[in-house]
Amino acid sequence: MKMQEYIEEAEQALLHTYNRYQVVLDKGDGVYLYDIEGKKYLDFVSGIAVFALGYNHKGYNDALKAQIDKVIHTSNYYYNVPAIEAAKKLKKVSGMDRVFFTNSGAEAIEGALKAARKYAYLKDGKTDHEIIALHHSFHGRTFGALSVTGNPKYREAFEPMIGNIKFADMNDLDSVKNCVTDKTCAIIMETVQGEGGIYPAQKEFLEGVRALCDEKDILLILDEIQCGMGRTGAMYAWQHYGVKPDIMTTAKALGCGVPVGAFLMTEKVAASSLTSGDHGTTYGGNPLAAAAISKVLDLFEEEKVLDNVNTVAPYLEEKLDELVKKYDFIETRRGMGLMQGLVFDRPVADVINKALEKGLILINAGTSIIRFVPPLVISKENVDAMIEILTECLDEL
Ligand SMILES: *Cc1c(COP(=O)(O)O)cnc(C)c1O
Repeated sequence: MKMQEYIEEAEQALLHTYNRYQVVLDKGDGVYLYDIEGKKYLDFVSGIAVFALGYNHKGYNDALKAQIDKVIHTSNYYYNVPAIEAAKKLKKVSGMDRVFFTNSGAEAIEGALKAARKYAYLKDGKTDHEIIALHHSFHGRTFGALSVTGNPKYREAFEPMIGNIKFADMNDLDSVKNCVTDKTCAIIMETVQGEGGIYPAQKEFLEGVRALCDEKDILLILDEIQCGMGRTGAMYAWQHYGVKPDIMTTAKALGCGVPVGAFLMTEKVAASSLTSGDHGTTYGGNPLAAAAISKVLDLFEEEKVLDNVNTVAPYLEEKLDELVKKYDFIETRRGMGLMQGLVFDRPVADVINKALEKGLILINAGTSIIRFVPPLVISKENVDAMIEILTECLDEL
């Protein structure tokens, strides 16, 4: 079947919740993807900050195949070795104490919110606790996650959300302080906002939020689903700041393509929050997903993925900054590590479509920002190739 025929079939069968790019992808290799007609694309999206190690990685594929031949699923009523290994490794790289595996980012957020409410409930026995979230945040599409997502467009048709959520502004400590009451149980934020436009937290802001939380025994939940797993050059972005969360969420690159997430907490929270019967999942952390996490974390170390991010990211920043200087319709660049945004004074859909035609996969964050979240194994040569194609597209504007 031809590409266009597949696309028509897709439009007949799938719910229309995405405006998909007009391409049917077939396979991947390293930092390249191929469509079903064999056309090659340089990928600067990695499945939205997921495929950190590059596609068709032999060591990763072999580890998954070996696990498939052993057992894929057993349920969380029994122990399994891959989950134990994955949890130990995740504790080590995050410095957190306890792990709960989920199937997605949104579910990790749900668990984190439940843990925070239970922690507060055990303190005062009340059921009217409040959570502070930030404008322009994105935490996922389930009801709890949507309730703390600071974008009314995503929420409106689905109201009412879960109650007692207040919104403050990123990098404005006073606006957070103004939301605090004696009912506040948690503050949830992305260390670097992703979907909302690639806004890194400023150091003083995150330090201020942490101090506020310490003062009032409010839990700090950091959502590292997009910015975590090495994307900013540290395993978790908060590790750049010297500010540790009480609860954190991780997903996206955690399984490098196998759908999995996790929320983690400190011993202090674990000792006094979710307990037997409070939370569960049929699939979460099943042997296949856990084998993926375990192998991904091994490969991060063996292949010195963070070193590569810290080598290539400054080069990417420099090249993007040159574009900001050259084109007056590009306003600025923002980001950390291999999570960058180019802010335009106009919609970027045309640029992204042109790039796709020329064999470069890019994605937006909001209507006027091009987001760069490539595989973490990209090279400077890949950056040069990307900039060359992007420049051609920009010259045609
Ligand atoms: C993608 C994302 C989520 C939601 O993850 P899903 O796996 O799509 O449910 C939550 N928070 C952030 C910061 C994200 O980028």
